[in-house]
Amino acid sequence: MLTNFMPVKTYFGENCLKEKGVEIANFGKHAFLVTGKSSAKKSGVLDDLLPLLEKLNIKYTLFDKIMENPTLVAVHEGAKLLNKANCDFIIGIGGGSPIDAAKTINVIAANNLIGREFYEAKKVEKAFPLVAIPTTSGTGTEVTPFSVITDEELQKKAGYGNPINFPNISFLDPKYTVSLPARITRDTAIDALSHLLEGLYSAKRNLINYPILFRGVKLILQNLNPCLNDPENLEYRKNLMLASMYGGIVIAQTSTTIQHSIGYPLTTAFGLSHGLANGIAMKPVMKMFYPHLNKILDELFDYIEITRHEFFEWLDEFGMKPQIELTDEFIAEKAREVSQSRNMAINPIEIDMQGVINLYNEIRNSISV
Ligand code: NAP
Ligand code: FE
Repeated sequence: MLTNFMPVKTYFGENCLKEKGVEIANFGKHAFLVTGKSSAKKSGVLDDLLPLLEKLNIKYTLFDKIMENPTLVAVHEGAKLLNKANCDFIIGIGGGSPIDAAKTINVIAANNLIGREFYEAKKVEKAFPLVAIPTTSGTGTEVTPFSVITDEELQKKAGYGNPINFPNISFLDPKYTVSLPARITRDTAIDALSHLLEGLYSAKRNLINYPILFRGVKLILQNLNPCLNDPENLEYRKNLMLASMYGGIVIAQTSTTIQHSIGYPLTTAFGLSHGLANGIAMKPVMKMFYPHLNKILDELFDYIEITRHEFFEWLDEFGMKPQIELTDEFIAEKAREVSQSRNMAINPIEIDMQGVINLYNEIRNSISV
């Protein structure tokens, strides 16, 4: 039996917020805006949103303190402010970090949670309405039930999924991504590519989503380089944003796999962006899974009209070789952490601790040559 659950009302296209933003008036009279330090401004979202709020007579409280890889402390600070300001609904604006933070701020505030209780589904009974406006093309969080939070005390990044986190409405306007610098454009697209590939790796792989999964991979391969060379071209931006949304729709059903779990420690320990961490793990992970998934992966490469070898060459051209030192001690410690992460149950094959160590060794070798 196949199943699919995608409850997010999605508007996609240039000026969609201006045209359809009136629908947020149903959510109340006071919005809580969650964003990072500058992306809401740089992307042009605030230029569209603030006049809209004024026209609809909606007050707002701005919380613009979300950093990359949002922390436990930051989401609690946001939740406190939301409740103090007595807001009716939430608008998350930005990349995955502010939108993920908006989701967790939401459940903390709505259920008066403390500490890490938001990870426990049974403690989460309600949520405020949530609107998402992405300004990167990578995480697909605007259509997923996931939120990833960094726990600085434990030096650990951990995600969770709860259907209550699906935004009520998402507005995806490719023009909001034109201001992205090249490095972030590349890294976020590689994150989206990971989600799409993990949709095939996942033990919960879902035939319903195969058409968009295949299409999403093709869109990234066809549009990422052209977009890096011509960053203001809205056609390329549109195609990358579509691919990112497709990736979100896919992982909302399948979840992510070891490809994501193995990257989290590289972000917390070395500050690698989420997309770059996924990027350097991509080849070793695909090599490990290929013997078990060769039929479907070959089908994918036939559809894109490249060989697996050409795909690896395409990846190599981005030169993702961060200067980090993966010591044997680091690998042993993090392999233990990765083995215990929730995504491990979703891998297509059983991977023991030695398997995780082997993957980290492969990553070490591939970035040192
Ligand atoms: P991000 O961390 O949200 O943002 C990265 C950087 O890009 C920030 O400096 C941000 O600035 C800047 N930026 C964003 N939009 C911009 C724009 N239009 N113009 C110029 N600069 C802009 O990056 P992300 O890759 O989208 O999100 C990564 C996070 O999402 C990670 O924590 C990851 O674990 C999580 N994630 C979640 C899911 C999910 O399903 N929920 C899936 C994958 C990853 P500001 O500092 O001003 O914001
Ligand atoms: Fe991701």
